[in-house]
Amino acid sequence: MTDRRDELAANLARVEERIAAACAAAGRAREEVTLIVVTKTYPASDVRILSGLGVRHVAENRDQDAAPKAAECTDLPLSWHFVGQLQTNKVRSVVGYADVVQSVDRARLVTALSKEAVRAGREIGCLVQVAFDAGASGRGERGGVAPEGVGELAGLIAGSPGLRLDGLMTVAPLTGEYAGRQQAVFERLMDLSTDLRRAHPAANMVSAGMSADLEQAVAAGATHVRVGTAVLGVRPRLG
Ligand SMILES: *Cc1c(COP(=O)(O)O)cnc(C)c1O
Repeated sequence: MTDRRDELAANLARVEERIAAACAAAGRAREEVTLIVVTKTYPASDVRILSGLGVRHVAENRDQDAAPKAAECTDLPLSWHFVGQLQTNKVRSVVGYADVVQSVDRARLVTALSKEAVRAGREIGCLVQVAFDAGASGRGERGGVAPEGVGELAGLIAGSPGLRLDGLMTVAPLTGEYAGRQQAVFERLMDLSTDLRRAHPAANMVSAGMSADLEQAVAAGATHVRVGTAVLGVRPRLG
């Protein structure tokens, strides 16, 4: 356990250095960027260690794993972000522990989140997940709505009881015209954020960048980076 703490502390310090360097390079204050550690596939004991090391935001992508983990960690001062593709039959569970759902990508999900948030007496922050690889279906390979659909979905969230529109999220596409062009993806997300904030000034969260591309995200203007591997290590299984 102590070894694991040392390992996580060292990894966290390296990630912190990278974020600080990226902020400096972009002429941004370090406080403008919030680190969210993606703890998916790793145990609650790691979440506990990270909390002890000062981490305040964690993210998960599967309700089956996240729900018991969050239940083991209710004593910790953590914000839980849900970042995975979310089925409506999991919404009740997710609303039980998530403070922010970053992967809102369709109207049906907004309706379900609103209903369960009201029922639970909670306010859930929502980010519209934008897919830059969305094809004719208007949906991305890893979830997300096409850029053209952002405004309508944002309006729906903003008008839904129990929900708070916080901003936008994206995962850089692995395929299509934007594959390997993270900087371009993140800059387009920032343009969409500028548009969004005209109608919804408080919706200023921009969640972009992971272990491999957090520098490009910070350069583009991201307010939140979601880092898994670089803090916890290579995941034991795909997740
Ligand atoms: C897993 C995951 C991350 C973190 O990815 P790493 O490459 O491990 O840093 C970020 N965002 C989402 C949506 C994820 O599913």
